[in-house]
Amino acid sequence: MRTIPLVDLRAEYEWIREEVREQIDSVLESMELSLGENVFRLENEFAKYCRARAAIGVGSGTEALSLILKALDIGPGDEVITASHTFIATAEAIVLAGATPVFVDIDPTTYTIDPNKIEEAITEKTAAIMPVHLYGHPADMDAIRDIADRHGLRVIEDACQAHGSEYKGTKTGSLGDAAAFSFYCSKNLGAYGDGGMVVTNDRDIASAVRLLRNHGRASKDVHVVAGTTSRLDEIQAAILRVKLKHLERWNGMRRAWAAEYSRELAEEEEIQTPHERAYAYHTYHLYVVRTRRREALRSRLQKAGVSTGVHYPVPVHLQKPFMGYGGGEGSLPETETAAREVLSLPMYPALTVEQTRYVYQSIVDFFRTEKQRPQGQAATNVGGRR
Ligand SMILES: *Cc1c(COP(=O)(O)O)cnc(C)c1O
Repeated sequence: MRTIPLVDLRAEYEWIREEVREQIDSVLESMELSLGENVFRLENEFAKYCRARAAIGVGSGTEALSLILKALDIGPGDEVITASHTFIATAEAIVLAGATPVFVDIDPTTYTIDPNKIEEAITEKTAAIMPVHLYGHPADMDAIRDIADRHGLRVIEDACQAHGSEYKGTKTGSLGDAAAFSFYCSKNLGAYGDGGMVVTNDRDIASAVRLLRNHGRASKDVHVVAGTTSRLDEIQAAILRVKLKHLERWNGMRRAWAAEYSRELAEEEEIQTPHERAYAYHTYHLYVVRTRRREALRSRLQKAGVSTGVHYPVPVHLQKPFMGYGGGEGSLPETETAAREVLSLPMYPALTVEQTRYVYQSIVDFFRTEKQRPQGQAATNVGGRR
């Protein structure tokens, strides 16, 4: 039986194998293994790609977020407003910096933080808003920045799923005070290990992060702040430099596959395809549909050899380490409903016409056979809602 994975990193590797191997080899021959030529060049290339002033390579996306907070002196006693419908790392980074996450509900059409619900969450302790450009769709940044300006708050983009995404023609990375990117292997720009990047137009944030990622080291034996070990490594940077050259085209391929899925599933009443706001250039880190029949559809697709994912089945505010931060079950209704209904379909640049057709055809078949089921025999009432 054929199987279609959720992500196929090997297929992508086939396209760049020779170049990647050459670059890894050249790092090993030079033995310049830490904060060398490749990290330095990637920082310049990635800043240029984002059309931002500075980029600083760090150990991971999580560290990128928490180092930005530390650079801004946001920590104990400060609150940071963010979404709960996200990967747990967004909230972890806030806690790592010593600050307190405050969760706000999402706009159910874009799955990003709902600007209309931000103001009621602001207190005198609020220091920043951290919107997440989830799945590759940018958050509504004008509305968010407007609120931040009125209340004197910082804006930190969690762009870990949004390399190359745009808001009104501006790339993520320069939509707030600073942005965090992850190079975790499955991201749109992924290393073959861990890595991350801070992108900013703010010179002070840039120089503070540069110090913090490397033990506060100003020169060989001079340490001016207590920092940490969070350097992007040379081998990963060399790999990322090869992949960055392809990012724009690969994002375009993701968009083309997404358009194909959306066109073919447009007529299905029980499934909602991703919404692209007029302001958005969506880069489809994940292609996420929603349906109340998620579990049944998911198991049918599994039987047909189509892998799917759920991002994310349990919202952050209902995960054990974050249950103490205010709202329990029922506090974020759109977030909790999305958690029951979202389903990620296979999405990666190396998808083929046959694979995408097989995926959407399997979905169309599922809903067709379900419709033919006689009344009273409906096998699915998943989520139990409505
Ligand atoms: C991947 C991701 C992160 C964290 O990145 P790591 O490099 O894994 O630390 C943070 N936020 C979001 C939304 C992510 O998807």
